[in-house]
Amino acid sequence: MSITQNIAEIRSRMAAAAVRSGRKPEDILLIAVTKLHEPDEIEEALAAGITDIAENKVQEIQKKFDQIHSPANWHLIGHLQTNKVKYIIDKVVMIHSVDSLKLAQEIDKRAQAAGRTMDVLLQVNAAHEESKFGLDPKDVPQVMEDILRECPNVRIRGLMHIAPYAEDPEEVRPYFREVKELYETLKKVEHPNADFTCLSMGMSHDFETAIEEGANIIRVGTSIFGERDYSKKMGGM
Ligand SMILES: *Cc1c(COP(=O)(O)O)cnc(C)c1O
Repeated sequence: MSITQNIAEIRSRMAAAAVRSGRKPEDILLIAVTKLHEPDEIEEALAAGITDIAENKVQEIQKKFDQIHSPANWHLIGHLQTNKVKYIIDKVVMIHSVDSLKLAQEIDKRAQAAGRTMDVLLQVNAAHEESKFGLDPKDVPQVMEDILRECPNVRIRGLMHIAPYAEDPEEVRPYFREVKELYETLKKVEHPNADFTCLSMGMSHDFETAIEEGANIIRVGTSIFGERDYSKKMGGM
């Protein structure tokens, strides 16, 4: 199947899951995860109606940013080191992986210098996986409060979650549900820089479950572009 056909199929599965969760298909944003894929593949996805693309490495955004000519909203979804914020501050529309005050402070500083406000999501590690970044759900409210107090150029738009890999996505449904509950609680916070409209959870193998549990942004790579070729990984990443 071509990239265009894959996207069409994902959109119909998304639409069905949206309806099952009492929402409209257009309420869910499909972000194409383009890591380790080539510019021509990304252009095909954009031609097929994709508006938003995501990378997990700063270096890949730097490399590809000028190679993509069609309009696209770029997202950073991977772990971000403070010393690399400056390279993407003028390139991405949203950073999904904020998991410390320190990182938010650096984003704040660079955003101010760039004359903008940066939209971010707080990354939650609901399954407490050692191998993954993200905040313990119980720490999220405090970190959010600290960021709102200290970082006037950072706007918190919601939460991001990466579920553990499971053959059967039913196994991770409880994590999606937990993150959605936290999202609903934090959504009530009244602050000019707290504007919760984004719940980013769900990937190729679990996006339908994530949508059923309330996700309104899904991040899909493999189901659009096929398997990634990790031998193409660039040095130093
Ligand atoms: C790679 C990646 C995805 C996409 O994963 P697929 O299984 O290929 O759909 C989603 N989110 C994050 C944070 C990723 O790094």
